[in-house]
Amino acid sequence: MSKRETLNLISVEDLLNRNDEVVRKIREINDQYYREQARQKKAIIVTYGCQMNEHDSEKLDAMLQEMGYLTVKKLDQADLIIFNTCCVRENAELKVYGNLGRIKHLKTKNKDLVLAVCGCMMQQPHIVEEIKKKYKFVDLVFGTHNLHNFPTLLEETLSGGRQVVEVWDSEGDVIEGLKANRKMDVKAFVNIMYGCDNFCAYCIVPYTRGRERSREASDIIEEIEMLVSRGVREITLLGQNVNSYGKTLSEPIDFADLLKMVNEIKGVERIRFMTSHPKDISDKLLVTMAACEHVCEYLHLPVQAGSNKILKAMNRHYTREQYLATVKRAKELMPGLSISTDIIVGFPGESKEDFEETLSLMREVGYDSAFTFIYSKRTGTPAAELENQVSEEEKHRRMTELLEMFNPMVKEKIKSYQDQILEVLVESTSKSSDSVLMGRSRQHVTVNFEGDKDLIGKLVKVKATEPKSFSIFGEITEVEQDI
Ligand code: SF4
Repeated sequence: MSKRETLNLISVEDLLNRNDEVVRKIREINDQYYREQARQKKAIIVTYGCQMNEHDSEKLDAMLQEMGYLTVKKLDQADLIIFNTCCVRENAELKVYGNLGRIKHLKTKNKDLVLAVCGCMMQQPHIVEEIKKKYKFVDLVFGTHNLHNFPTLLEETLSGGRQVVEVWDSEGDVIEGLKANRKMDVKAFVNIMYGCDNFCAYCIVPYTRGRERSREASDIIEEIEMLVSRGVREITLLGQNVNSYGKTLSEPIDFADLLKMVNEIKGVERIRFMTSHPKDISDKLLVTMAACEHVCEYLHLPVQAGSNKILKAMNRHYTREQYLATVKRAKELMPGLSISTDIIVGFPGESKEDFEETLSLMREVGYDSAFTFIYSKRTGTPAAELENQVSEEEKHRRMTELLEMFNPMVKEKIKSYQDQILEVLVESTSKSSDSVLMGRSRQHVTVNFEGDKDLIGKLVKVKATEPKSFSIFGEITEVEQDI
């Protein structure tokens, strides 16, 4: 019987109760340590990858805080280091291995240092084997499906003096009630579903995050109401494919219905969502987006490639023509809509002509931004087995060509905002100066301007006076009470 099967015999409630007891126990130990040593135990989470991982780290951070840990920013100050890993790209995995090697020496400096590795990478058995064999100094390994069980695993690690490895191979129930320490007071990520059923040929996510499971709408609404009561004003609804929200629920509800419900929550000023699979985006959703005043004029719609041959090989289930028709309809319904995408360059079998089709599609859509990736083999995915792999040199050449074409396009887009008045939600001071504030427009463009820190969390209107390459500098024209 696997660990997961054993735990299936325990109800989620019992599991969480057990974790609560462990949290109290570790808290007592840490409080005792503080009294004796006059220093609090410190922890750091290093997060790799997407918003899902960032949000998982926020949940881990909340657990750490409850257990009496102080979160710090430097690895060498920590008594507990957690790497929350990503496996979507090979580079991210190599970075984790490299960084593990780099921090090994910290264990000799601090013999009590606990090193934990979790996240998507750990859902792959060959990676866990590698960690067990070559990274014996790692104390704790766990996966995405048992993140909620972290306190219990930590206790086992602290008391055992041996490497603890527990990775569940199946997803199990959606766990409600986990707190999260959101990084920002103004914006928050809210999971609406977990996992993915799409099996795009290049993607490891369905194997690491499991099958699609939607959260009950009432739980989502309750969480958003709680966030709003704490001052959050912008909500990003998260899922690997939000457009298939509701399919696993008994109540008849889809993503457009959920969007409408969120739009009606008092205090929610802005709503964004990601990611939207083009094959599942419905006309109902586009019409709903246009009708809901709090839904921002921003759509992330990953196309991945511009040629029908490659889209088919990727198992994406839409054609270039269908994608372009969706974009046209969205722009008709929402003038000024900003569209971003994901692009993979050098998928196996991608000819020069296929690549040219990606470039022409990007020009035709006129994207506002794009996340561009060089294809990398992911063990266990169908694309990794394909023989007609594109050489590394050619992939890099194509990426350079793509960026040379696309970056000036983005610059032009940003330039087109010159002298426009943008509604900006103020998020923080800028990295460069405390007197310069940073926020985003409804179209998700970064806007900087001079202003007082008191404006953080407010909606302001800013005139775009100096569009830069990827952001805008402007001047405040109105603050919230006047808007
Ligand atoms: S939709 Fe495709 S690319 Fe996105 S998570 Fe699912 S399998 Fe991966």
